[in-house]
Amino acid sequence: MTTDASTTDLTTTAGLLSAIEDPHGREIHDPATGEVVGRTREGSPAEIEAAVAAARKAQPAWAATSAQERSELLNQAADAIEASAEALAELLSREQGKPLNGPNARFEVGACAAWLRANAAFELEPEVLVEDGETHAELHYRPVGVIGAVGPWNWPMMISVWQFAPALKMGNTVVLKPSEYTPLSVQALVDVVNQALPADVLSVVPGDGAVGAALTGHADIDKIMFTGSTKTGQAIMRSAADSLARLTLELGGNDAGIVLEDADPAAIAGDLFWGAFINTGQTCAAMKRLYVPESLYDQVCQALVEVAGASPMGVGLEEENVLGPLQNKQQYDIVAGLVQAAKDGGARVLTGGDPVAEQPGYFYPTTLVADIDNDNPLVSEEQFGPVLPIIKYTDLDQAIEWANGLEVGLGSSVWGTDLDACRKVAARLQAGSTWINKHGAVDPRIPFGGVKKSGFGLEFGLEGLKHVSVPHVISW
Ligand code: NAD
Repeated sequence: MTTDASTTDLTTTAGLLSAIEDPHGREIHDPATGEVVGRTREGSPAEIEAAVAAARKAQPAWAATSAQERSELLNQAADAIEASAEALAELLSREQGKPLNGPNARFEVGACAAWLRANAAFELEPEVLVEDGETHAELHYRPVGVIGAVGPWNWPMMISVWQFAPALKMGNTVVLKPSEYTPLSVQALVDVVNQALPADVLSVVPGDGAVGAALTGHADIDKIMFTGSTKTGQAIMRSAADSLARLTLELGGNDAGIVLEDADPAAIAGDLFWGAFINTGQTCAAMKRLYVPESLYDQVCQALVEVAGASPMGVGLEEENVLGPLQNKQQYDIVAGLVQAAKDGGARVLTGGDPVAEQPGYFYPTTLVADIDNDNPLVSEEQFGPVLPIIKYTDLDQAIEWANGLEVGLGSSVWGTDLDACRKVAARLQAGSTWINKHGAVDPRIPFGGVKKSGFGLEFGLEGLKHVSVPHVISW
């Protein structure tokens, strides 16, 4: 039993919670303190059934509105997010664990509004393909229909907006299934956004993987947008075989950064650090392994240790913190196990690597690991936490081969002062995005997606709109 969101003050955290909480629901705990944040209702396959049917019914009228009307509503949704921004950030911080400050909770809520506004501003015009006096052919982009979107726990609000903002702009309706670890944040966000939208255009059904599977395997879903692990992406792709639902799969990564000989360690240290440790390392396109030439190795290691020492980790609601806990015990154990494997393999821990036992919360200290082999599991597996292995190289070709040596290819980066040299290395990297002198800098105007087992399909920009559309060619 939840309170009606339309009669609740959604600009306070208490109001957001009262609109979504189920007093008999599952307890959600703050990963920093262990305290109860709230109780989430659990959806079911039957609720998915009802939500998909309602979304199907609402879709024709939504698609019949003009692109300009939809843009106005997306901008109003962004206004609503801004009016509730502090309350949303606090709830997100408590449920996900990320601090309010740094590139974390307030940043994430700000990005939600920014992505809505950017999609409101985009116009996907029909393209004239042939016009030679005899034949005229043009390509139009139509809505796909009903989109099922399934998301992860690391950036729960922002990734939901990445999915639904372009989808709604193109005239689709959307049913979201958030991660079972962060259901409150996404339900609250949807309540806020829905103040601006017609009924059933955007809905959310919380629940576990089985509820997700009921959505992605549903016969009446036209497109699935999935962000999460490669393994779940593979299961979803199999389940979509019967419906032939279109797919965008944003999956795991293990991004490499390569520092070139002419880089300035002091100048790049801050951006290197945040390229790896944004959201306490729980970011798909964070740098998860750094290749540094022997000539700069000690300087880069030392500069990173200094930035780490100046970046406080702690409870998210305490304003000074910029790094937080791991979101859940499962992820904590993965990170702790991989650092242990590095130590067992003879690697040198520069800082961190020694979690404090018996403290509340899943805090793993900021950890930098040097003198580690490229085939150590801390390098070759996606660790998704506040850890960075720094691998020494003497031959740039070898570093590029190592960077490309994994099955995944989401992001990558090259660091140096000679832009042409950086671009030459960038061109050789197997990844959906390669940044130069930054890492993981997503932008609503610039397409983002993976190659290899990091998935396929693009989000953001006009390309993102095309991926939530179906092509329709008209010719005479
Ligand atoms: P996950 O795959 O365990 O879960 C993601 C979502 O899928 C959850 O909502 C879960 O309930 C649901 N799910 C589980 N089984 C399902 C099934 N059979 N059918 C349908 N849905 C199912 O991933 P996670 O641990 O929440 O997220 C972390 C992973 O996500 C990391 O690998 C990370 O790299 C990746 N990620 C990728 C991007 C990107 O843009 N490429 C962004 C963020 C996270």
